[in-house]
Amino acid sequence: MSDPHCIFCKIIAGEIPAFRVFEDDTTLAFLDVGPLAEGHLLVIPKTHYERLDQMDPDALTKLTGHLPRLGLALMQVTSAQAYNLLQNNGNEAGQVVMHVHFHLIPRKPSDGLGYRWLASSYAEGRGEVIAQEFKATLDSLAP
Ligand code: AMP
Ligand code: ZN
Repeated sequence: MSDPHCIFCKIIAGEIPAFRVFEDDTTLAFLDVGPLAEGHLLVIPKTHYERLDQMDPDALTKLTGHLPRLGLALMQVTSAQAYNLLQNNGNEAGQVVMHVHFHLIPRKPSDGLGYRWLASSYAEGRGEVIAQEFKATLDSLAP
């Protein structure tokens, strides 16, 4: 439920301060202490999970159900026209705090934050192989 060494669990418990903007029984949203832009939010489950794939689907549904309203509020509060939703899983993906969190990052024209999307492509036949591996793997995992 809670990890005594986890900084986000400590925020949930009120043991360290944060600028809280929303909470209910399962979810907490607060300002990122190192914002990419003013209003950058973190949205977290009140139960400790390290990664999204470890979450109970019902808990995830409750958490993500708040994102549309939080996104609207984010744009109104920051006068941003857009926002990025970012969710890192594992160190290699850039996750530093090992408690599931969604970043909501307001975006404005010329904000200088940029966007890296280094797209590649599949060699002939490789897409079919990968898709088949996904189907077999998904069949072996509980729904
Ligand atoms: P990630 O790299 O996806 O794990 O992002 C972790 C985020 O947590 C970073 O953007 C940090 O600025 C933020 N963060 C770390 N400690 C705190 C804290 N005590 N209060 C608010 N945000 C924090
Ligand atoms: Zn935690």
